[in-house]
Amino acid sequence: MPLSTVRFVLFRPSHPGNIGAAARAIKTMGFSELALVGADSLATEGGRGEARARASGAVDVLENAMMVDTLAEALAGCGLVLGASARTRRMNIPQMNPRQCAAELHKAGRTRPAAVVFGPETAGLTNAELDLCHALVCIPSNPDYSSLNLAMAVQVIAYELSRFGSEDKAVPDTEAPLASSEEMELFYQHLERVLVGSGFLKPHNPRNLMRRLRRLFNRTQLDENEMNILRGILSALVPGSGKPDWKPGPQDFGGDSRSAADLLPPDEQSADT
Ligand code: SAH
Repeated sequence: MPLSTVRFVLFRPSHPGNIGAAARAIKTMGFSELALVGADSLATEGGRGEARARASGAVDVLENAMMVDTLAEALAGCGLVLGASARTRRMNIPQMNPRQCAAELHKAGRTRPAAVVFGPETAGLTNAELDLCHALVCIPSNPDYSSLNLAMAVQVIAYELSRFGSEDKAVPDTEAPLASSEEMELFYQHLERVLVGSGFLKPHNPRNLMRRLRRLFNRTQLDENEMNILRGILSALVPGSGKPDWKPGPQDFGGDSRSAADLLPPDEQSADT
C-alpha cells in the first residue's frame, strides 16, 4: 500500500501549533494526507503563523491539507476509518492498539484510502464522531493520565504505520514451520549424546556447554528443515547416535582430544543460571 493512502484527520483542533506539529509528525513518517475539520484557529494570521512555525519543514503538508467543515467531508472516499482515543471504555466499538491499527490500515488501504481521526484537545472524540469510525485505536499509556498531546498521538500512530511490515521484510519467509520445542529437545539430547560420546563434553565438568549451545540454536529460530539437516549431520557423522539408547563404541570417535572444559572459561560453570 502506498503510504499516502492513509489520511490523518484532525477533528476540530483548537491549537494551531498542534496542527503544524501534526503536519510535521506525518511528514517525518512518510505520509502526506492531512485533513482538517473546523480548524478555525487557522483563520487568523497569527494562527497560521504559529502552525507554519511548528510545521517546520512540513509546511507543504499544512498548505495542501484538506480544509472542511464536517467529518463526513473529511472522510470522503475512505474505506476503513479508525478513531484515536485515549479513553478505552467504549461500548460496542472494537478497540485496537497502534500496531494492530497499522495492520488493519495496511490491509484495508489496498483497496481504498483509509483514515485515522483524532479528536479536539479538550474533549476528544464524541459519540457522534465515533459513529463514523469502524474501531478505536488507543495508545497504551499511563492509566492515571492517558491523554497524549494531539500531535504526539499523531506521531505515535504515524510511526507504527510507517514501521509496519519493515521488520517482517528483514526476516526471510521460511518454507517450513519453526521446529517444535519437542523437536528441539530431541535435537539437544542427540547433540549431547554425540558430544559426551566424543569426549568433548565431560559430564563431570560440563562448563555450561549445553546451555551455551541451546542459546546459540534458540537464537536462530530453527525451522523444521534446518532441524532435520542438523539431526541428519549428527547421524551421518556418528551412525546410530540418533537413537536415545545409543552408546558410543571405540570406533566412533578419534582425533582431537580437547574438551569443552579446555575451551570454556572456568567461571562459566557457575554463571548464568
Ligand atoms: N481530553 C481528551 C484527549 C484529547 S487529546 C480525552 O480525554 O479524550 C487529543 C486527541 O489525541 C484525542 O482525541 C485522541 O484522538 C488523541 N489521543 C490522545 N491520547 C491518546 C491515546 N492515549 N490513544 C489514542 N489517541 C490519543
